[in-house]
Amino acid sequence: MRKFSLSLLALAVTLPLLSCNGEQEQRAEFFVFGTMVEIVVRDTDHQTASIAFAELQQRFTAMHRDWHAWEHGELTALNLAFSEQRSMEVSPGIRYLIQRSQELEALSGGRFNAAMGAMIGLWGFHTSVFPVTDPVPSNEAIGFLLDAAPSASDIIFDGDSAFSHNRFVQLDFGAIAKGHATDLAIELLARHGIDEALVNAGGDLMAVGGTDENPWMVGVRRPGGGLIGGIEITGSEAVFTSGADQRYLLQTGRRYPHILDPFTGMPVQGVASVTVISDSGLLADAAATALMVAGRDSWLEVIQAFGLEAVMLVDDQGEVFVTPAMKERLIPESGTELQLTVVEVPSEG
Ligand code: AMP
Ligand code: MG
Repeated sequence: MRKFSLSLLALAVTLPLLSCNGEQEQRAEFFVFGTMVEIVVRDTDHQTASIAFAELQQRFTAMHRDWHAWEHGELTALNLAFSEQRSMEVSPGIRYLIQRSQELEALSGGRFNAAMGAMIGLWGFHTSVFPVTDPVPSNEAIGFLLDAAPSASDIIFDGDSAFSHNRFVQLDFGAIAKGHATDLAIELLARHGIDEALVNAGGDLMAVGGTDENPWMVGVRRPGGGLIGGIEITGSEAVFTSGADQRYLLQTGRRYPHILDPFTGMPVQGVASVTVISDSGLLADAAATALMVAGRDSWLEVIQAFGLEAVMLVDDQGEVFVTPAMKERLIPESGTELQLTVVEVPSEG
């Protein structure tokens, strides 16, 4: 059996490699979105791959700059405009992310909320250094922002300009940026005629062009370390995981994960990770975050609302809950057995 590994090399170079069935693979790596992004393409000549990789790196760097929630760029300028009750012209990229965030907020019953950047900043999560060791915010500060109730639906467009009726709206696309970027990366590669590709942003990934004979093999990380199992991707699919174990605030021995429940302003509890397979990176990314907020109590509701099939939730005791469609997809590492609790998704209506 093949070994599932998401190898990360440190250099942004293209290396011709041979895949399992002898097809030529080429890769590139670069550091964006606080993570190493690895691109692997198959069956493409070196020159085409090199040009596509260079363009991709440029696009990723621009997305990182434009969508950053706290480093100076287009999004921080827009957030400042919202707080000063000014309207500001926005790029089509940001406009698209706002519109999708409005839809996703509604679809998730408010569990996904890209407008609560102020709350995320209040918890100290606008940083690249983890764990955060700031004090836990006061109930007053959290209560104030809860009362302000920022929502992506507070944003309106007039031509190319955006305005927020609520000056406490502060956009943070941390829960969808990687998903949208992987979708765009796959599109960009297709424009270069590359339709066998894997775009892996630190374990969150999208792959296209795998076949039954030569699928893309990816590993699903176990919270705390190791792998739960592997997944073979044929066709076009994204696999996204949200987790509580890597980014959190640590105070008096207690961990407060970086994913917040918009209804309480508090970090999610009880769930260690959620993994979603979907044909859209953006949807998988948003859904994984919303499902972290939903937890075991209401994850099925969110699965239905998003129309998802293959979902896995690991609780804080390490118990692995899967939908039947996810069970079908998971492959144990050789010599191990999967310990899964299968949960049926009730059919609606
Ligand atoms: P992810 O790793 O995709 O789950 O995204 C987590 C990031 O999304 C956090 O670091 C925050 O920037 C942001 N975030 C946290 N909670 C939420 C939420 N409930 N809805 C939308 N974005 C969130
Ligand atoms: Mg997400």
